[in-house]
Amino acid sequence: MNRGILTVVSGFSGAGKGTLMKELLKQYDNYALSISCTTRSPREGEEDGVHYFFKTREEFEAMIADNGFLEYAEYVNNYYGTPVAYVQDMLNQGRDVILEIEIQGALKVKQQYPDTLLLFVTPPSAEELERRLVNRGTETAEVIRFRMNRAVEEAEYMDRYDYLVINDDLQTCVEEMHELIQSQKNRASNRGDMIDKMKKELKIRKENKEE
Ligand code: 5GP
Repeated sequence: MNRGILTVVSGFSGAGKGTLMKELLKQYDNYALSISCTTRSPREGEEDGVHYFFKTREEFEAMIADNGFLEYAEYVNNYYGTPVAYVQDMLNQGRDVILEIEIQGALKVKQQYPDTLLLFVTPPSAEELERRLVNRGTETAEVIRFRMNRAVEEAEYMDRYDYLVINDDLQTCVEEMHELIQSQKNRASNRGDMIDKMKKELKIRKENKEE
């Protein structure tokens, strides 16, 4: 059995990543979404072990010391990290694992595992991004301005990703992401098994002809 594909999804806050991930997991059953650890407090409706594993700074730092993270980063004064064990287990079982993490973490994963597929989700325009943040209705004008300013900085890293996923129509976007991930399966670096098989078969045929 082949190892699963590791995909990292980042994107602007308000780009619709959350909805996209939910749909992708609902529509296809080979995906496993990693649950991160964080030191930030749970928001209303968030459950420990479902949205995040909520940790104290001490607990988080103990996990760092224990090499418990595939990557971690500090983001707006809190730690966020991907527990390594779950990701490795799922990949070994052939599941396609998705990490929804911010840019610093994404680049660290890519550095460590160059075969990782990096996807960046963006709305079709800056105007649309702002419209989505406003329409959420939950954010103050100040928070919206903060997120739009951060998007200016984040846009500097868009070209470090393998593909952009332009989130205009949700269903189109879900299918596009699925196809991008599945197409990784036949990357030569992921098909050592196929390469070995072909080499072996070709050699046997050659030897048989020579006899
Ligand atoms: P939030 O606090 O809004 O849930 O998440 C803030 C940011 O942290 C988001 O961009 C989210 O994708 C990112 N994030 C969540 N989990 C992780 C993680 O394990 N590692 C890193 N580097 N970023 C994460």
